[in-house]
Amino acid sequence: MRLWTHDRWRFPLPEHHRFPIDKYTLLRERVVADGTARADEVLEPEPAPWAWLEAVHDRALLERIRDGALTLRESRGLGLPWSPELVERARRAVAGSVAAARFAIEHGVGMNLGGGTHHAGRDFARGYCLFNDVAVALRLLREEGLAERALVVDCDVHQGDGTAHLLADDPLAFTLSLHGARNYPFQRIPSDLDVDLPSGTGDERYLEALSDALDLAVPRAEADVAFYLAGADPWEGDRLGRLSLTKPGLRARDELVLDRLRATGTRVCVVLAGGYAEDVRDTVDINAATAAAVARRLPYPGGALPGA
Ligand SMILES: [Zn+2]
Repeated sequence: MRLWTHDRWRFPLPEHHRFPIDKYTLLRERVVADGTARADEVLEPEPAPWAWLEAVHDRALLERIRDGALTLRESRGLGLPWSPELVERARRAVAGSVAAARFAIEHGVGMNLGGGTHHAGRDFARGYCLFNDVAVALRLLREEGLAERALVVDCDVHQGDGTAHLLADDPLAFTLSLHGARNYPFQRIPSDLDVDLPSGTGDERYLEALSDALDLAVPRAEADVAFYLAGADPWEGDRLGRLSLTKPGLRARDELVLDRLRATGTRVCVVLAGGYAEDVRDTVDINAATAAAVARRLPYPGGALPGA
């Protein structure tokens, strides 16, 4: 299947920084080695035009990002050193999610090997997130007449505050976030449904909570398109997560989300979000398993949406 990546556009990082910049290249190599995609099916999008970003983000914030003029407070909150390369890479990541979302509309499921930058809100960029790729992709699908109603299933271990901020007043979008109660961000912006899980939750209780949340969210959303943030950071070995899921538990999570959405004919665009294992190869294992689960669901039942 076709996948999107921006792994070759790197940016300067201090040594021992927690951002897993090597993950993206290893993941590209891994999905090809696994046979999930051929090398020529892993595509590199052009940077998202600024106009796409202006459709969801505050113009003054975008100018500060473009010009390297973030305030000291904003830079600290972002947690990544500004560089022109950082901005270009982030624009490419957004474009990857847009391309994957269009692919999902056409084929049923799509995946970007990046994106899921859910801490970026309308007028703030924090927690390693410059732009909110999901909000941008949804806006474009709507402008193109490809989808209207949307569901966000955010299974990154951190709460999806930026996405909640951007979609709070959107009656046609339902935001669901399952996350560690004691994890970042410590000041929340409420989603339509937030599920706070205790530290050490483990596979069984996690999957139960996820299933209950989907029971509520899927019929409520009646979504044409869903965005699934398949964060690897609920894993037991993650340095930032606290939920103690195993790798088989995370695979079961992916299957649960994908199969519930498939059962209602909802198109699904999968994005990567976070993952901070000590050994980056563990994060890559988890992400590659998600990509394989996505690929196994093609062809997708239900045909094309009207207008797609
Ligand atoms: Zn996270």
